[in-house]
Amino acid sequence: MLRRAPFVDIVLGPQTYHRLPEMVARAHRAGSKSAGVLDTDFPVESKFDHLPDRRTETGVSAFLSIQEGCDKFCTFCVVPYTRGAEFSRPVEQVLAEAEQLVAGGVREITLLGQNVNAYHGAANGGEIRLSELVRRLATTDGLARIRYTTSHPRDVDDDLIAAHGEVPALMPYLHLPVQSGSDTILDAMNRGHDARRYLDTVARLRDARPDLALSSDFIVGFPGESDDDFEATLDLVREVGYAQAYSFKFSARPGTPAAGLPRQVPAEVKDERLARLQALLEEHQSAFNTACVGQGVEVLFEQPGRHAGQLVGRSPYNQAVHVSAEELQVGDIADVVIEACKTHSLEGRLEQQSAGDIGTNIEERLSA
Ligand code: SF4
Repeated sequence: MLRRAPFVDIVLGPQTYHRLPEMVARAHRAGSKSAGVLDTDFPVESKFDHLPDRRTETGVSAFLSIQEGCDKFCTFCVVPYTRGAEFSRPVEQVLAEAEQLVAGGVREITLLGQNVNAYHGAANGGEIRLSELVRRLATTDGLARIRYTTSHPRDVDDDLIAAHGEVPALMPYLHLPVQSGSDTILDAMNRGHDARRYLDTVARLRDARPDLALSSDFIVGFPGESDDDFEATLDLVREVGYAQAYSFKFSARPGTPAAGLPRQVPAEVKDERLARLQALLEEHQSAFNTACVGQGVEVLFEQPGRHAGQLVGRSPYNQAVHVSAEELQVGDIADVVIEACKTHSLEGRLEQQSAGDIGTNIEERLSA
């Protein structure tokens, strides 16, 4: 990169951004004669030991990195090469950072990781998994909501499923990427599970938490994807009924195994498949949002709206909700009755309603 683009001063990797001030100083000292500063190592010391105190951050919702890297080597993905092997932060460090965030006013934490549910953080001479971390985090005073992303279907274990049923603070919304509904393509992607196993996992999660809303990622036009393979993806979407999803055309990443596979799918076929898939996903998202109209949801208010007295928050299902709420402020959680749904958000009014009724209402409405 430095050779091809001499105007670039610094190239750094995701594991070394805590050294950025030092790199800027080095580049500055060397001036225009510099060949560029390069620091793409995976250092022994963790960057997490060098990140600033988070007590002064603003906002009611925050991300907290608990895991990085990936050992799964899906054939289309660069992450294992760019981010390195899977690494989990020790539990005490995660809990301490969560305390800082909550002390600064955060009420919702989203645990982050490339493979977040592969988490196995050190604790008291042993290790704990994501499910146990969520349970411990849920005891933090003032923390109302916990989410995690991005998870892998292979790492959804029994205890994580149980945690979804047991921990009220764990929000009933899960991003669980499947990529394809075809066993042939899942195998070619090296995803390590088939469509049936994914659907079983979804069914078990919904048994534990009946109002769970799901989101996913999809890739269409993976090399070798036939019409039948693509239809299998549409079938899986119909069976799961996603509240939200991200979908992309396969695009070869240099250096990954899939980039060199034969039977690449023509661009116009990818276009057509993506349009069909997105139309179906939008239909499902719209059905999910419409099912919320007339129902009660708990909303965590995150910021003022565009109109006077209006606040914008998130439902448990991660939907943006606009409410006229002069008597409330950012950081409050209130029961809201949804009155209308727009393309990307909902509108509601405040109501006094017990939170316990809420999930049941949505669940009944969706199953109807
Ligand atoms: Fe890992 Fe996810 Fe990339 Fe697969 S898609 S290699 S699980 S980061």
